[in-house]
Amino acid sequence: MANHHAKHVVVVGGGLAGLVTAWKLQDAFRVTVMESSPRLGGQIDAITTSSSAQEYQVEPNTQMVSSHAQPQLMNLISELSLTDKVCWVNPSLMIMRGLDEVQYNAPMTFRRLGLSLQEDNREVLKEVIGLNREIRRLVHEQPNISALDWAQSVRGRNLVLDLISAINGCNLQEGEEYQIGQAFGMQGITGPVRMVRDYYRLEGGFRQLIDSILDRLEVNIVGTKPVVAIRHSNDGFDVSSDVVTVHADYVVMACPPAESARLLPNLPWSGQPKRVLEQFNVQSRRVALHTDSTWMPRNPAHWSSFNIVRSADRCQMTVWCSQYNELPISIFRSWLFEDGDRPDGLIKQRSYSVPIMDASFVGAQKKLARLQGRLGLWFAGSYVQGSNNLQSAYLSALAVVESIAAEEL
Ligand SMILES: Cc1cc2nc3c(=O)[nH]c(=O)nc-3n(C[C@H](O)[C@H](O)[C@H](O)COP(=O)(O)OP(=O)(O)OC[C@H]3O[C@@H](n4cnc5c(N)ncnc54)[C@H](O)[C@@H]3O)c2cc1C
Repeated sequence: MANHHAKHVVVVGGGLAGLVTAWKLQDAFRVTVMESSPRLGGQIDAITTSSSAQEYQVEPNTQMVSSHAQPQLMNLISELSLTDKVCWVNPSLMIMRGLDEVQYNAPMTFRRLGLSLQEDNREVLKEVIGLNREIRRLVHEQPNISALDWAQSVRGRNLVLDLISAINGCNLQEGEEYQIGQAFGMQGITGPVRMVRDYYRLEGGFRQLIDSILDRLEVNIVGTKPVVAIRHSNDGFDVSSDVVTVHADYVVMACPPAESARLLPNLPWSGQPKRVLEQFNVQSRRVALHTDSTWMPRNPAHWSSFNIVRSADRCQMTVWCSQYNELPISIFRSWLFEDGDRPDGLIKQRSYSVPIMDASFVGAQKKLARLQGRLGLWFAGSYVQGSNNLQSAYLSALAVVESIAAEEL
């Protein structure tokens, strides 16, 4: 435990990033986590549902992670002694099926993809966009031929491989496996392409990351009331909820960017962090756990882990949760459109406010990196670096910890 003379760090927000920050700092600093919700863990959640008097836990959020896309998350899993809970998902379960029912939404796809591309891949992108228009027209004229088939054959180019190679800065060869759903932003061209073999789930769910950190946490936790104001003086910060004010030498903002922007005081270099944080555009994502199989492809032989159904304007994607979680009842997770239908057999619905990964997002990340640590103020969270996932929440926390520790050397 840190001694009484150690500097005091207040972490605002008890999601994965905030909790990792607190845990890693607790030996050298006094640490207080201030969290608005009665439950720690932020977006990582677990919902208990029951069937035939038996209870099951389902997660509305992360259920599977690719170790290829998020290699460093494995370090956290290992540090928390959860390696034996890692269950590799059978790749045959991950094949996107239901070609005839696949939705093809190119504009959305390319808006997202354009941003992941590195500068020297712009030419590929331009070409791909041209090809894409052509494919869209062909799909429209010949709806019985899938977008993927067109994509692979138009002008003799394998558009899919080009595009995925461009995004990843590598040169994928024909026949290699790739997680195409992810590459196309979950809404684009999908087809009978195998996903990478490295998907895993955590037995008991990713919520265990949070529970295991909480088991190790020896910090002061001030819960259930949002932080409503932060004041700065020469002496440090005063961080206040409606019921308590905590004095801090250092503050780590580990809550969503819009919330951080709202809370930040006018600092001597005023405006800057607020302006940068406001550059992270956010969108509301509504996720429903349900048992309504009409949201899946009409032909059950086409059901796969991720299902994107052309006829359904009702949701972006439906995940067949029970398939890979080995639940004895059929549970689906649909990413709903705000104004669309709602499924029957609703178990739970959650709304999340998540940053949109656009050009503004990328620019804001770069600017925020330059502001880290000024006057004793840091930012952690999945939006701060990387692509807004569990690994980026974890790595953002490690970066903040390293930087705060360096202050004390
Ligand atoms: C539906 C969905 C599916 C996802 N699927 C995946 C996936 O498959 N793989 C993957 O890697 N990632 C996935 N993610 C993303 C991943 O869950 C998040 O990136 C990660 O959990 C974010 O952690 P965080 O600590 O940065 O933020 P959060 O979890 O958002 O934590 C922020 C915390 O700040 C608190 N807070 C907010 N305002 C205040 C305030 N004023 N005072 C005090 N506390 C405050 C909040 O209550 C919250 O606890 C998904 C996200 C969603 C929404």
